[in-house]
Amino acid sequence: MIQQINNKHCCSRLSINAYFLIVVNLILIIVGCVLVFGHSLNLNREIFDPNHDEWSYNDPKWESLIPNWWDQKNFKPPVGPAEESTQEFWKSKAQKTLQDKLNSRINTNKAKNVVIMIGDGMGFSSIMAARSYLKDVSAELSFEKFHHSGMSKVYCVNYQVPDSACTATAILRGIKNNYSVIGLTSKVNLYNCSASHDEEARIPSIFKYAQDADKSTGIVTTTRVTHSTPAAVYAYAASRNWESDDNLVPDGCDDIGKQLIHGPVGSKLDVVLGGGLGNLMPEELGGKRRDGRNLVDEYKKQHKNSSVVYNKDQLKSVDPKTTDKLLGLFANSHLDFKLFANDETQPTLTEMTAKALDILKKNQENGFMLMVEGGRIDRAHHENQAHLALEEVVEFHKAVEYVKQNTNEEDTLIIVTADHSHPFTIGGYLPRGRNILGPGDYSIEDKKWIFSASYGQGQGYYNHFDKEAGERKSPRGMKYMEPTFKQPSAVPMDEGTHSGEDVGVFASGPYSHLFTGVYEQNFIAHGMMYASCLGPDDVLKNPKCENDAENEIK
Ligand SMILES: [Zn+2]
Repeated sequence: MIQQINNKHCCSRLSINAYFLIVVNLILIIVGCVLVFGHSLNLNREIFDPNHDEWSYNDPKWESLIPNWWDQKNFKPPVGPAEESTQEFWKSKAQKTLQDKLNSRINTNKAKNVVIMIGDGMGFSSIMAARSYLKDVSAELSFEKFHHSGMSKVYCVNYQVPDSACTATAILRGIKNNYSVIGLTSKVNLYNCSASHDEEARIPSIFKYAQDADKSTGIVTTTRVTHSTPAAVYAYAASRNWESDDNLVPDGCDDIGKQLIHGPVGSKLDVVLGGGLGNLMPEELGGKRRDGRNLVDEYKKQHKNSSVVYNKDQLKSVDPKTTDKLLGLFANSHLDFKLFANDETQPTLTEMTAKALDILKKNQENGFMLMVEGGRIDRAHHENQAHLALEEVVEFHKAVEYVKQNTNEEDTLIIVTADHSHPFTIGGYLPRGRNILGPGDYSIEDKKWIFSASYGQGQGYYNHFDKEAGERKSPRGMKYMEPTFKQPSAVPMDEGTHSGEDVGVFASGPYSHLFTGVYEQNFIAHGMMYASCLGPDDVLKNPKCENDAENEIK
C-alpha cells in the first residue's frame, strides 16, 4: 500500500525516457481496460477505487462511482471475483472444509505445554477487517485454521462492558471479578488495598500452578510488562494503575513492578519480554519509581544465569542454550505501534515470541506455559485509528502462526482469544475489493460518501463533523491511509471505549475441543488447567493426570 501511495509522485519530471514510459503506460492502460471488461476483480479495483490511496476521491470520475442502487434501471452492481461465480467454486471450498472437519480427531493427550495468546481488544470486527486489510475479505488468519473455536462472554462482575484487568483475571485465573482489579475476587473494590490482603480474595494464577508443576513460564507483550494483561499472570492489585510506586499505591500494598521482580510468581518467570522499563527504574535514572529502587539491578542479582536486554540486536544475540532467565525491556512505556516502530531497534511480537519459545522449550521434562499479548490493538482502537489497529492484528496473526509452526499439536495446547472487543464496526455496503479503511458506500441523506470502518465513541467524531456547518464532513480528500487518520465515531469522547459483546476463542492441540460453544470467559482457565493437569485439588481432573509416564508423548 505504501508503495502505491508513493507511486503518485513518480511522474513529476519528464525526459525522453519518460515519453517512452508514457507510451508503454498507454499500452498497459488499453490492456487493462480489456481485462476490466473481462471482469477481473483486481482491475475493477483500479476502476472503482484506485484506493489504498486517498487522491482517488478527489478525482471527478469518482462521482460516477456513486452507487445508484435506489435507481433500479440504471444501477450498475459491483462485480466480484470471476472465479467465485461458479457453483463449483463454493461447492469445492465447502467440501474441503467438510473433509478437514471429518479428518480431525479429538486430541486427548495431556497438554505438556500451554500457550495462551491474547489480542487485546481484538473483537470479531477487527478480525474480519484484518482479513480484508491483509489481502481480501476471504483471507484466513492463522488462528482461524485451528480446528476448534467458540465464544466467550466477557462481562465482569460489576460492569457489562469490561476492561483488560478483569478480563485477564478471568482468562488467567478462572474467576470473574471487578473492573480494573487484578487477581482479586469481587469482594475487593477498586483501590481497596486493605481488602486485597484477605487470603480468600486472592485468586491463584494458572501460572502459579504451572510453576508448582516445575514448568517453565514466560510472558511476552507489546505493552508495558506491568500492564493489566501481563500483570494478571503474576500480580494482585486493587488497581491496575498501581504499576509503579509513583501512582498513589497505598502503604501496605506492593506496586505491580515490585511484584514482577519479587512476587512469588513474578520472580519465578523465566522469560519476561515487552515494554515498561520506566516502572522498574528510579526517577534519577529516567524511570518513574520514587522509592529509588532499581528493580532491573535487583533482578540481575537475584538470577545468576540471566540476561537483561534492551533492543533488538541484544535480543537476537541471546543464546537460549546458556540463558535460563531473560528480561527484555524495549521501551520505557509501551512498545511503539508496528507502523511507527524502528525496525532496527524494536523487536516485533513474533521475534520476542520466537526467543521466548527457544528458552522455554528447554524444559523437556515438564514443559512450559507462555502468555503472549498483542497489546496495542486495543490502544489504536481507543484512538479510533483503525489503520494502526489492523497492522497490530496482522502482527498478532503472524506471532500465532510462528507458535503453531514451532510447537507440536500433539503436546501443546494453543488458545488464541481477545480479552474484550471495541465498538469498531464495518458498515455501509462495501463492495468486494475496496479498501476496508476507505469510503465504501454513499448516503443519500446527506449526499456524501461514508466510511465503512467506524466507531461508536472517540475522538474521530471531531475529524468528521463540521461544527460550523452543523453537518458531517465529506470523506472527499481525506487522507485515510495516513497511519494517524481517525475513522469517524458517532459520539465524541476523550477516547473510544471497549465494547461488551462476546469474543472468539480459537484452540489447537490437546483438549482443544473443550473450547467449542459459548461460555463464560473464566472457563478458559479451567479448560487450560484440565488439559494440562494443573490446578487446585477441588477442580475436575483429567484421568490422564494419574499416570504421567504412561501419557508421555513419544
Ligand atoms: Zn483498552
